[in-house]
Amino acid sequence: MEDAKHGIDGNFPQPGTDGFKVTDLEIELVQTSAEKPDPNQLVFGTVFTDHMLMIHWTLARGWEKPQIKPLQNLSLHPAVSALNYSVELFEGLKAYRGVDNKIRLFRPMQNMNRMLRSAVRSCLPNFDREELLECIKRLVEIDKEWVPYSKSASLYIRPVFIGTEPSLGVKKPTKAMIYVILSPVGPYFSTGGFSPVSLWADQKYTRAWKGGTGDCKMGGNYGASIYVQQEAKAVGCQQVLWLYGDEHEITEVGTMNLFLYWINEQGEEELATPPLDGVILPGVVRQSILDLARKWNQFRVEERSITMRDLLGALKEDRIKEIFGSGTACVVCPVGDILYKGENLHIPTMENGPKLAKRFLETLTNIQYGRTASDWTYLVV
Ligand SMILES: *Cc1c(COP(=O)(O)O)cnc(C)c1O
Repeated sequence: MEDAKHGIDGNFPQPGTDGFKVTDLEIELVQTSAEKPDPNQLVFGTVFTDHMLMIHWTLARGWEKPQIKPLQNLSLHPAVSALNYSVELFEGLKAYRGVDNKIRLFRPMQNMNRMLRSAVRSCLPNFDREELLECIKRLVEIDKEWVPYSKSASLYIRPVFIGTEPSLGVKKPTKAMIYVILSPVGPYFSTGGFSPVSLWADQKYTRAWKGGTGDCKMGGNYGASIYVQQEAKAVGCQQVLWLYGDEHEITEVGTMNLFLYWINEQGEEELATPPLDGVILPGVVRQSILDLARKWNQFRVEERSITMRDLLGALKEDRIKEIFGSGTACVVCPVGDILYKGENLHIPTMENGPKLAKRFLETLTNIQYGRTASDWTYLVV
């Protein structure tokens, strides 16, 4: 279904025989567990659990035994390539406490596949995706009491892969490290309500370009976006709508993929999202929305480019039903307004329900929280 070059599932080099194994895990537990926070008071990514996973690699010796240890600071040489040249990548997924009290991950192999793709592009070493997922499972199991007892909160899982080459040469690292930290996170929409975001679209900034790294979850992509996000805030918008090229193609919303539900130029009901052509991060939620929509088979589903001109024309003719972002943090996030060339474009997402965005939200959260059985879930414990 997806292009092997850009999609989440590609052809990967086989990991070497020097891979790490979950059966070699060395575990050191904390003496006393820290106090668990109230899930409704959480600020994203500020509270961490008791333990972390660490796996070291060197060119000379390959992967060392994986370790689960008390959460701790890293000790790094100041020349490491992660700090000097952003030889760094990350992932983001969540563990959900289901209505049956079981803990599940959502399509975690998609994250492992994407992580390996980012590693290849970063010249970081190969690793066995299944073994890493098993190690993460053990970590979440050990810190399972940190998975919030809540129908809207969850435990965010952040795998990180860094080059730890202690040298200023711009070259392929001979030392690297994977670590995984866990952070309980509250509901994305604080009042439980679905609130729309306003976007700022300006062609003077580019998030990603063909041949670049925007289709990989590399830290440098995100550090460079903060300045633009600040400018969006300064003009009264909440997030950036990233445009691409002379045609002002609409690509992503902040750090989310973008969906347009509309009546297309041929008068057909259509759900559209930009194709994985190198400037789009292949989101797990994006793929899941496409998979569900194709299975439902009730309207056209297209991976196609959409320009600001297409959007302006459709707005004028009242053909836009909903625009929403998608990502692990919020699942789906409705768009209400777009500021473009000094003009506010109102998007009638909320006026239209938003019927489709809500349907995706409910279908996906029902799976994540164990209300609907699905082979998209992976049981931790
Ligand atoms: C992570 C990310 C997404 C969403 O990916 P999910 O796997 O659905 O969470 C979308 N766009 C960007 C730029 C991202 O970094």
